Amino acid sequence: MIAQAEDLLQQYYGYTSFRNGQKTVIDQLLENQNTLAVMPTGGGKSICYQIPGLLLDGTAIIISPLISLMKDQVDALQALGISATFINSSLSTNEQQERLTQVRLGSYKFLYVAPERFESQSFIQTINSIPLSLIAFDEAHCISQWGHDFRPSYRSIVPALKQVTNLPVLAAMTATATEEVMTDIQSLLSISSDNIVNTGFARENLSFQVVKGQDKKSFISSYIEARKLESGIIYTATRKQTDNVHAFLEKKGLQVAKYHGGLSETQRKEEQFAFIQDEKTIMVATNAFGMGIDKSNVRYVIHYALPMNIESYYQEAGRAGRDGEPSDCILLFAGQDIQLQKFLIDQSMADSPKKAQEYAKLQAMINYCHTEQCLQAFILDYFQDESISKNCGSCSNCTHQGEKTDMTREAQMVLSCVKRMGERFGASLTAKVLKGSKDKKVKEFRLDSLSTYGLMSSYTEKDITQFIHFLIAENFLSPGQERFPILSLTKNAEPVLKGKQKVWMQQIKINPHAEVDYQVS
Ligand code: ADP
Repeated sequence: MIAQAEDLLQQYYGYTSFRNGQKTVIDQLLENQNTLAVMPTGGGKSICYQIPGLLLDGTAIIISPLISLMKDQVDALQALGISATFINSSLSTNEQQERLTQVRLGSYKFLYVAPERFESQSFIQTINSIPLSLIAFDEAHCISQWGHDFRPSYRSIVPALKQVTNLPVLAAMTATATEEVMTDIQSLLSISSDNIVNTGFARENLSFQVVKGQDKKSFISSYIEARKLESGIIYTATRKQTDNVHAFLEKKGLQVAKYHGGLSETQRKEEQFAFIQDEKTIMVATNAFGMGIDKSNVRYVIHYALPMNIESYYQEAGRAGRDGEPSDCILLFAGQDIQLQKFLIDQSMADSPKKAQEYAKLQAMINYCHTEQCLQAFILDYFQDESISKNCGSCSNCTHQGEKTDMTREAQMVLSCVKRMGERFGASLTAKVLKGSKDKKVKEFRLDSLSTYGLMSSYTEKDITQFIHFLIAENFLSPGQERFPILSLTKNAEPVLKGKQKVWMQQIKINPHAEVDYQVS
């Protein structure tokens, strides 16, 4: 039958050969072996269950948590001349009934449903009355409570499957799964270890970069300036931040869309549409945006603030370059972002073991920002629980050239200035004092009488400000949690002031287009 599978690949999809892993998955499903496929985003998971669905008798049921994607998938199949439909809450009860009737008549080769459908007895009865070719679990990691996107409705399909009298072969597909999650999926769906097809999830076309000690707005405006025609996503941590960054870019005359949970559904749809259609090249959004978005030409994903864990980071960053073309995944790191994520964990309803787990995951995310190892390898090793990944050769750590500079003296100047200013002011005024500026505020607060006034006069005010941001990122300075950050020394500052600890900084070129001066060890 595998020869027929190759014919179908050519006939329906117009592709000449299978991609890594596809053939094995198809083969196993045709042999009636429950299978778990772990493949990167854009790796071609759909074909893995669509071809067996075409070859086997009966209807294939595909369970997907992404309502917004179902219609696209169904449209794509119909365009290929394959009978397919979906049933989910976006349809009226009448429409759902009509489609169920057609399912009972065996009119479809493919039926896409949301997990909740398995809670309906009439649905179970319907599928029990027809031959089934297979049941595929798209985004299968949602079934595991160890996954970052656990959906209880997905998990409750497992007991419901017992009521399916003519249970066919099961296919579980995911692009993100830790060992724990894989084991969980395996046991829940009775998949033998021999039937896991794991092509890994390295994305060779993605260049990961961590940018620290930079003014974030200056960074994004100079980065975007160099690629105005390219499509990109900027993820922020909060709705307010989305509004703020969106307004900033719009003011610069850029075509920019925004998306967050505070907008009406109509607004969200319009903004999303404008982005997908390339009417607006940039999307500024919270993590509410992206699930079920299949836009292949996203050239960059910038995280304006620290994501909560590596799982969500990789998934969001992975929305870049689905077409396989070189794309950037940039994380703008600042020390104060950690506070926000900690606060979100503190405020969550999770019980304390779960909170401890979230903290540990956040710590891994923070480590990613500080590591000097290959960034892609760091992520892949995180999922694999062992250090086996090879260097990507294109991330900001792999491409780092140049020596580290000893910045201890400059750090001492900044730290003592903050101390002398009474730990009452923000980064920009501190930079002014160090520069020796004649600014009104400097005079007003008599900061020009401090011994640290003008101590860094040979630097530009911008460089001093960036260096202060670097010291915040490195946790020598804390910006506090006020709306207008107020700098104070952290406990890490003392050894530096006493000359017991050195401060090293890398001076690197992150990217030919981006004006990035500093990277930190
Ligand atoms: P995933 O669900 O794994 O993210 P998709 O199934 O959406 O990926 O496939 C990504 C893209 O790759 C689609 O445009 C698909 O048509 C294409 N594709 C899949 N298999 C092959 C193949 N064997 N040869 C060429 N292109 C393929």
